[in-house]
Amino acid sequence: MLFPTANFQAQFSVVSFHPGDAVAVLLPLPLAGSYDYTVGPGQRLAAGDFVQVPLGRRQVCGVVWGEASGAVAAEKRRSVDRALDLPPLPLASRKLVDWVAAYTLSPPGAVLRMVMSVPAALEPMPPDPVAFVAAAPPPALKMTEARRRVLAAARQPMPAAELARQAGVGTSVIKGLADAGALHRIARPRPVAGALADWRRAGFPLSDDQAAAAAGLRAKLAGDFSVTLLEGVTGSGKTEVYFEAVAEALAQGRQVLVLLPEIALSAQWLARFERRFGAPPLEWHSELGQASRREAWRAVAEGRSRVVVGARSALFLPFPNLGLIIVDEEHDGSFKQEDGVIYHARDMAVVRARLGGLPIILASATPSLETQVNVEAGRYERTHLPLRHGGAEMPDLAVIDMRRHAPPRQSWLSPPLVAAVEEALASGEQAMLFLNRRGYAPLTLCRGCGFRLQCPHCTAWLVEHRLAGRLQCHHCGYLSPKPSVCPQCQAEDSFAACGPGVERLAEEVAAKFPAARTRIMASDTLSGPRAAGELIESMERREIDLLIGTQVVAKGHHFPLLTLVGVVDADLGLAGGDLRAAERTFQLLSQVAGRAGRAAHKGRVLLQTYQPEDKVMRALVSGDAEQFYRAEAEDRRAAGMPPFGKLVALIVSGPDPGQVDRVAAQLARLAPRDAEIEVLGPAPAPLALLRGRHRKRLLLKASRSIRVQGVVRQWLAQLHPPNGVRIQVDVDPYSFV
Ligand code: ADP
Ligand code: ZN
Repeated sequence: MLFPTANFQAQFSVVSFHPGDAVAVLLPLPLAGSYDYTVGPGQRLAAGDFVQVPLGRRQVCGVVWGEASGAVAAEKRRSVDRALDLPPLPLASRKLVDWVAAYTLSPPGAVLRMVMSVPAALEPMPPDPVAFVAAAPPPALKMTEARRRVLAAARQPMPAAELARQAGVGTSVIKGLADAGALHRIARPRPVAGALADWRRAGFPLSDDQAAAAAGLRAKLAGDFSVTLLEGVTGSGKTEVYFEAVAEALAQGRQVLVLLPEIALSAQWLARFERRFGAPPLEWHSELGQASRREAWRAVAEGRSRVVVGARSALFLPFPNLGLIIVDEEHDGSFKQEDGVIYHARDMAVVRARLGGLPIILASATPSLETQVNVEAGRYERTHLPLRHGGAEMPDLAVIDMRRHAPPRQSWLSPPLVAAVEEALASGEQAMLFLNRRGYAPLTLCRGCGFRLQCPHCTAWLVEHRLAGRLQCHHCGYLSPKPSVCPQCQAEDSFAACGPGVERLAEEVAAKFPAARTRIMASDTLSGPRAAGELIESMERREIDLLIGTQVVAKGHHFPLLTLVGVVDADLGLAGGDLRAAERTFQLLSQVAGRAGRAAHKGRVLLQTYQPEDKVMRALVSGDAEQFYRAEAEDRRAAGMPPFGKLVALIVSGPDPGQVDRVAAQLARLAPRDAEIEVLGPAPAPLALLRGRHRKRLLLKASRSIRVQGVVRQWLAQLHPPNGVRIQVDVDPYSFV
């Protein structure tokens, strides 16, 4: 077992606890704090050690957190059962748990549960799988035809089952040969993902701009904590540039963490990594199987895995030797985790970097306003790549005013967009239509009585998915077949689809461009990372002429032959009107636009909009991002909104609407009174019913100088909601549903 290097060990708290001492143990459960235990006979423990302790009638694994609180009298304390055979949880990870818990107002144990997300990894690993290899046959061996075939096949080490299959024999033949000494058993250690990345390989020769940016990032590896925004237009080579920093960290023998917004869709990123470093990184995401999760967790904890690429939860892996963090597409909203412990992975990654004293790189073509303000305030540094790589030009961007170019009824493509698609297809180029709506139609209603098909558990319409033949709630996942008669007026065949989703758009495309090879790319039409990878490859191989996609097409893909991007409904994201609607729409549409013309052919982007005068459309067309952000920042500053003020959302929810109302009203009565604090609400949440729970929202708005956590903690301590009513706290809310 490889333990962290000596110099890193020195960072661990050196206090050790001996038999009879009292220690605090944090358990991965949503309890108020740590529990005290007595160190058992023969045990020697230090902060960070994984231990098993009794809790009620159960045995639970937890982590030694430090000295006991003293809350429990010595004679009442129970003893630690045993220490687990694992490297200790590093100090920076422990500090991160405490920090995230305090910031998000979550129980530390709930955060620790994210660290200890793979309980099986705490137990000894199963022995390495065994393979068989042919040895010199002992002279007394009775040779048969079957045995001869086995020995021939076993010139390469092979697991028994594989050997039996190749030789066409039963496993008893193999066992017989092994017993006779004609086959040797050898252990075959499983390959460790992320262990073999070779930083000595050369990357692409970099342009001068890229080389300068890369040198700056490499230099950060010699220093302490730092945050650098790596900003550059789509296609400027940000990935290639931060790979240089990855190489530097690996050369120093450190671990690297790369956070991506949508790891399941990052086949192209993974392929590029492998091309650059000769071996794949370790992937960490929700679609990993149990066995892979266990091995991955162990490999990280033991420092064997060097490069981890993951979704937000990878931040809580127990890296003993982390040297660099990269957050790619740092502006992406999916870094915000919306349930359980509600946290923003980009912000907590910065905290992790600070606690570990290491550099972090935030990469984006359209950085979040938060990050830009941090750059301006001098808290973050900025490195800029102004040009697309290889002289590729930025696409031309224009709006189509839908008030003047209305499409015919029941269709969504305006004549100018249709003409542009025809032109692109006629010149043998690829086109993409972007519509950020899954399914066939967002609303289905009865033509007879106007009845709308709604989710029984949420304030939301059911979305028809015609390919799958059903209706679906996009909030809770509720599924139902399309009813044959209207539940209200009993009319038959009276349902009409309202508005387009990508499936309906595909029908229009098929009618208008019958010769085009068309595919849909949406999170629900892809069955997993492999399906996404295959679709992207077939796009690269030019087997697709026209790609129709939701936001999953926006993220980072590089399609050299794609020249036309049509945004079917550019206004869609502006509708909700929440704090970040304009910023998010600008970022998303810039990213979609950035798919066009990334290689030799110049790209063209057409935005269908009913509000061409809107500031977002104007900024996209002019390409003046700086002006857009400046105006946006001014608006927020004037309104005292983030990042210039603090917001905390409180969501009261429960099965009984009366109870929820009462608790919400009580919260409002008890609201903190302070000149620099404002409490808005209670108001029905836009999703007033979600998964069968009624919901009310309150919003606390405070100036930056207020420590909102303390205020909210005191506020909540004054009331005890009845069973079933929950108050969820969302510090720095992103979603306002
Ligand atoms: P970004 O992340 O800024 O959108 P990428 O890193 O994805 O840009 O680069 C865009 C494309 O250009 C990729 O296919 C990448 O491999 C290629 N590229 C970037 N820099 C270089 C370089 N110096 N030499 C060769 N290819 C490069
Ligand atoms: Zn629902």
